[in-house]
Amino acid sequence: MSSKPGKIEDSYDVVIVGGGPAGLAAGLYAARTNLKVVLLERGIPGGELLNTELIEDYPGFRSITGFELAQKMEAHARDFGLEIRMEEVQLIKNMGEYREVKTNRATYHVPAVIVASGGTPKKLGVPGEAEFAGRGVSYCAVCDGAFFTGEEIAVVGGGDSAMEEADFLTRYASKVYLIHRRSEFRAQAIIRDRALANPKITTILNAQVKSINGDDKVTSITYVQDGVEKELSVAGVFIFIGFQPNNNFFADHVEHDEVGYIITDQTMATNIPGIWAVGDVRHQLTKQITTAVGDGTTAAIAVAKYLAELKHAKAVSKANAQSNTE
Ligand code: NAP
Repeated sequence: MSSKPGKIEDSYDVVIVGGGPAGLAAGLYAARTNLKVVLLERGIPGGELLNTELIEDYPGFRSITGFELAQKMEAHARDFGLEIRMEEVQLIKNMGEYREVKTNRATYHVPAVIVASGGTPKKLGVPGEAEFAGRGVSYCAVCDGAFFTGEEIAVVGGGDSAMEEADFLTRYASKVYLIHRRSEFRAQAIIRDRALANPKITTILNAQVKSINGDDKVTSITYVQDGVEKELSVAGVFIFIGFQPNNNFFADHVEHDEVGYIITDQTMATNIPGIWAVGDVRHQLTKQITTAVGDGTTAAIAVAKYLAELKHAKAVSKANAQSNTE
């Protein structure tokens, strides 16, 4: 269901921006608390779950596809009354009395907004990357590392993420080739030194990945080093060349870290009154489905409390105004 183009929607208590696990969990909790809630998602609900083949670390599901878990989360939230609209959010603005959320179809005026817009792993943009996503190409070591137990794999990148995740992946892989486009690493010394001291990690420097190859799944990677094209047999390629949080729709200054992840307090509140941020768009230790779901839960409960306090404050001020006129 979509709103009428150009319509002002002012009957909702809360708008949730983004339909990944964090947004769907926030929606479930908000709907169960009897808040009038709408979730806006530009595509199909599921977020990064839709880019994940198999999930083995979500409690209660020994093994489930990302697509199936996304469908279950969506159905669960809808069952408890969450309304989901396919709209793209273009602007979020604090108007003092209310928050304005503009989409490609409508404008929402609401007291509370939960931003669950996630982020996007940066892509190499080489042939085979998109084709083998979920079939050997991954952007999440914690999610997919175990699928490569005893195999040789490649990690691409030279920052903290690439080196930390390469180190982590040696728990599973028999060998990890760390492929970096320069001869110096961007990673902090402590993270770099730990990875380089790991006997299962072999570095390939000054190397540009040209293609990721395979049949039904990845079998090799082609890279160019010192002008020479080389092929390396690997069963998987983990790409860690940066992650871009989706936060470009704020009209006001939202506090964020140097990369762009939004800073929140422990209730997921941002520095902008009436706006909360949850999941992968938020600055935090790790980006897991479990933590996203936890963030969404916390924010929905915090929003319910905020709205109850707002209602109480309005009732008190109305009563005071009435007694002053009597
Ligand atoms: P990053 O620091 O931006 O590093 C990206 C790496 O990918 C760089 O080495 C870069 O190479 C390489 N790269 C970028 N585009 C590429 C391309 N098209 N082809 C090949 N290589 C490419 O990203 P990150 O490692 O994800 O870290 C992001 C932020 O999170 C950083 O501020 C980092 O400190 C922080 N972080 C911290 C921790 C921690 O403290 N434990 C852990 C993870 C991340 P060049 O070096 O040549 O540019």
